[in-house]
Formats: sequence, structure tokens, C-alpha cells
Amino acid sequence: MYQQLVKTEKLEAVEQMGAAISHEIRNPLTAAIGFVQLLKEPSLPMNKRAEYLNIVGEELQSAERVIQDYLTFSKPALEYLEELNVKKELTQVINILRPTANQYSVQITTNFALVGTIRGDRQKFQQCFLNVIKNAIESMPNGGQLSISTQFSEYDITIQVSDTGVGMSKEQLQKLGEPYYSTKGAKGTGLGMMVVFGIVKAMNGTIQVDSVVGAGTTFVFTFPKMMKNERF
Ligand code: ADP
Ligand code: MG
Repeated sequence: MYQQLVKTEKLEAVEQMGAAISHEIRNPLTAAIGFVQLLKEPSLPMNKRAEYLNIVGEELQSAERVIQDYLTFSKPALEYLEELNVKKELTQVINILRPTANQYSVQITTNFALVGTIRGDRQKFQQCFLNVIKNAIESMPNGGQLSISTQFSEYDITIQVSDTGVGMSKEQLQKLGEPYYSTKGAKGTGLGMMVVFGIVKAMNGTIQVDSVVGAGTTFVFTFPKMMKNERF
């Protein structure tokens, strides 16, 4: 079993996240616009027309994937800290991903501790767990079990996300969170985990990953619990 306490500090690149992301969205859009321009030519043969349309579709999908990994919950607002009910926020994310889980024949089980709140930005918290849970589902192309649970100790909240998917080798674990690191080819952005690390760092959390190739992966997130009387 490979175990690693991932240091969120190693991702200084996260500071340039916004710039990198807009670049990643602009490139496919520019390509799509170029091919739409070519499609305007009336004498373009049918086979070329079909080919270009295909490229336009792929480029737009690529832009959409980047947006999903980064901006699913973003409204054009500044960071807004509030008291988050962990169970409620995670339930919302799970509901969004339920159709994807069904498509992958993935069964979801949850075990939420009753109460407990943390302090954070709701959109970012949801984006973080959307990316993690989506990866877990995508790691089980032939179906499997996804379990999500929370626990509270005196000072911390622990969120555990486990899958019975393909797992990661030690080398793969080390690359996790590096910008553009993906094993999904054209279907991946390699930005999802980078966003996760950035958000967890901003929330003073930690990430631990246990993974076994061919058996599955468990992510454990720890966040400081919101204390009674804590002021914003
Ligand atoms: P993407 O999902 O677009 O590939 P991410 O940054 O979200 O990019 O993830 C990077 C890589 O980390 C994935 O391509 C995959 O190889 C690996 N990974 C992340 N989560 C898991 C998981 N639960 N099980 C197996 N591999 C994972
Ligand atoms: Mg991903």
C-alpha cells in the first residue's frame, strides 16, 4: 500500500491557477472558432465539413471539461467565508454526480456524522469534493463501490472518500496535483486535483492518500472544526 501525506505547499503553482485555466479554456475555443471560420466556405466538400465539425465538437468539449474542474460552482463573486454544514454540502455534490455514478455502475454509500460545521467558501468546498468524487467514479469504469464518510474529533473534521477503482502507483501518487498531470488522455484535464490542493490549502486542511493498484484509493481530508463562538 502506498501512503502519502501530500504537502499542499508544494503547489506554489496554484497561485497562477486562474491564468493557467483561462489559457486552457481559450486554446480550444480559439481552435473551434478557426474551424467554424473554415466551415463557412461554401465549396468545402462534405467529408471535410464533417471532419471540421467533429473537431469543433471536441474542442468545445475540452473547454467544457476545464470549466467543470474549475468553475462548476463559481459565480463571479469574491471569496465568501461562511459556516458550512459538511453533510449538507457533500450531499449536494453527491446528488450532482449521481447520474455519472449510475452511468459507471457505481454504488454510493454514505456515513455522515451528525453535526459539525467548518468555515469556508461554499462554492470552493463543493468544487473540491466534486473533483475528488468525480475522479473516484471515473476510476471505476466497470463499476464499484464509492463510500463517503465524515467524522469529528475535538478540533477536526475528517472526510473520507474511498473507491474500489484502478488505484495509483507510488509514482502516480507523487504526480497527483501537478498541473496537467492526467492518465485519461484527451478525456482528462489534469487540473481537477490541482484545484483540490489549492482549495484544501486555503482552508487550512490536509490531504492523505492511500492507494493500491488494482484495488482502490482512499482520500482522507482533515479540516479544522468551527469552534463555538468563533467569529468570522
Ligand atoms: P483528470 O481527472 O482530468 O485526469 P485530475 O487532476 O482530476 O485530472 O486527476 C489527475 C490524475 O490523478 C487522474 O488522471 C488519475 O490518474 C489520478 N487519480 C485521481 N483520483 C484518482 C482515484 N480516485 N483513483 C485513481 N486515480 C486517480
Ligand atoms: Mg478529474
